Amino acid sequence: MGCIFCEIAEKKRPARIIYEDDHALAFEDINPQAPVHALVIPKKHISTNLEIKEEDNALIGHLFQIANRIAKDRGIAERGFRLVINCNPESGQTVFHIHLHIVGGRLMHWPPG
Ligand code: AMP
Ligand code: ZN
Repeated sequence: MGCIFCEIAEKKRPARIIYEDDHALAFEDINPQAPVHALVIPKKHISTNLEIKEEDNALIGHLFQIANRIAKDRGIAERGFRLVINCNPESGQTVFHIHLHIVGGRLMHWPPG
């Protein structure tokens, strides 16, 4: 079974890409849950955060740097925003290629649903 986020990274599936470098990609979520809803992924396939290895630490930090830059660019950094990583079915993870949700532009509630 193919991985849709690997396909996006390989340009075999369309996406509204907002950032790209050799190791990572960011694109608009296809079903946005807030005025700003983008996803940041590593190009390397890592299925869940449980699969992050020591050697991936710099890569994962890089994803956060990208997310922060996008939040600043979209004007939500100071207002506040949420970074979300869902892990496994009870969290609601549906795509098993690790991704950082950047969600913002509206008031968030806690605890999350
Ligand atoms: P999660 O539930 O954490 O696995 O999040 C998966 C996210 O990927 C959801 O917010 C979906 O709307 C989003 N998504 C699924 N397919 C695509 C796609 N082809 N392009 C952009 N976002 C997608
Ligand atoms: Zn993948």
